[in-house]
Amino acid sequence: MKTIIEPFRIKSVEPIRMTTREERQRLLEEAHFNMFALHSDDVLIDLLTDSGTGAMSSAQWAAMMRGDESYAGSPSFYRFEAAVKNLAPFKHVIPTHQGRAAEDILFSIFGGPGRNIPSNTHFDTTRGNIESSGAMGHDLVIAEGNDPASLHPFKGNMDLARLEAYLQEHRDSVPCVMLTITNNAGGGQPVSLENIRGVSALAKRHNKPFFIDGCRFAENAWFIKQREPGQQDRSILEIVRDCFTCADGMTMSAKKDAFGNIGGWLALNDDELAEQARTHLIRTEGFPTYGGLAGRDLDALAQGLSEIVDENYLHYRIRTNEYIIERLDALGVPVVKPAGGHAVFVDARKWLEHIPPLEYPGQALAVALYELGGIRGCEIGTVMFGAHPDGSEAPAAMDLVRLAIPRRTYTQSHADYIIEVFEELVDIKDSLKGFRISRQPKLMRHFTCSFERL
Ligand SMILES: *Cc1c(COP(=O)(O)O)cnc(C)c1O
Repeated sequence: MKTIIEPFRIKSVEPIRMTTREERQRLLEEAHFNMFALHSDDVLIDLLTDSGTGAMSSAQWAAMMRGDESYAGSPSFYRFEAAVKNLAPFKHVIPTHQGRAAEDILFSIFGGPGRNIPSNTHFDTTRGNIESSGAMGHDLVIAEGNDPASLHPFKGNMDLARLEAYLQEHRDSVPCVMLTITNNAGGGQPVSLENIRGVSALAKRHNKPFFIDGCRFAENAWFIKQREPGQQDRSILEIVRDCFTCADGMTMSAKKDAFGNIGGWLALNDDELAEQARTHLIRTEGFPTYGGLAGRDLDALAQGLSEIVDENYLHYRIRTNEYIIERLDALGVPVVKPAGGHAVFVDARKWLEHIPPLEYPGQALAVALYELGGIRGCEIGTVMFGAHPDGSEAPAAMDLVRLAIPRRTYTQSHADYIIEVFEELVDIKDSLKGFRISRQPKLMRHFTCSFERL
């Protein structure tokens, strides 16, 4: 069949509150044009993030009732731990309330002034946690990863030659090597199994522990199965296990590929590091058998982890992105190709070439999508990455708008609506104006800064 149907029926629905364009103009001004400041019930289609915004299954809701809220030794924890180890066979699994809490713990151990931490591309919270420890994060993605038009099948790959040179140059100041799968900040692009193995071998040779930021491990495995020679006949589960077996540990946001509305974990093999991590966990999150989570959350995640590796789900999910991207491409909208896992990325710098990077073309496009169609996307560009710890500012590698697709939440007609809003934008895009930032915090400014339209 040509149509890939949503592989689920809908048992419970949430109404969408309709708004007018005039209403949205007023709401934008009240929010100082920051998408994060909008109330979500003022949004028609919320593509701000795929993080924690997915729909849980009936089996997950049922699992929540099994949740055991014991302080220590809850069976919910052991079900969660077994579900994680089934996919990622690390010795220690430490639950946290989100991925960033796992990062905070990891960099409380590996961070600190003078340290250098490489990755393909660090996600913003990862970079924030590295930098607030006093360390520096460096992005060593392959050159194709910074070219929105390149059709390389694994644009999230680490540049192994650059990593080798980096490890030579920084030697003793590198506490660990990281790799983000899929590469969220680089367009949700996948990393090949071959590249994961390559990073692992290099890290081993230089005696550095290797950690995977595994937020979208299932989507990454789907791409490996589709695109990597020799992987077509293998199950997603086998591929996922192969990926994690290469590493010494992982950080995870369970709000992504675990179908959770909240949650995360740090997993690792080293006993001594695990003890340090658990000590930090007890101080900041909670006792090691619940971390930052309720027992019911742990059970929902345990169930979610068994659903996320379902190939029918992954097929439908990735196809939705491809569908939107093919149609935007046909409209002449520059999109990051090939389709990534969790989102559609529009190259705002290229499309709105009359707006220079330091006037934030991504922000201008995000504002226009909301004003015109009530769609909320997220700038991933100079607003998010342009400010440096020393107070200076420079254009980011790319100025993208990310339309992140929540898991199992929207349907085909929502996708068609998104495409229609872009059709309208094609005619007026040259009249869009840039922005300036009128107020910003020191770190991770995109969440809270205020904008003024130029
Ligand atoms: C979401 C995300 C994180 C942070 O996880 P939270 O649960 O939001 O704290 C880290 N890395 C990547 C790649 C992510 O997508």
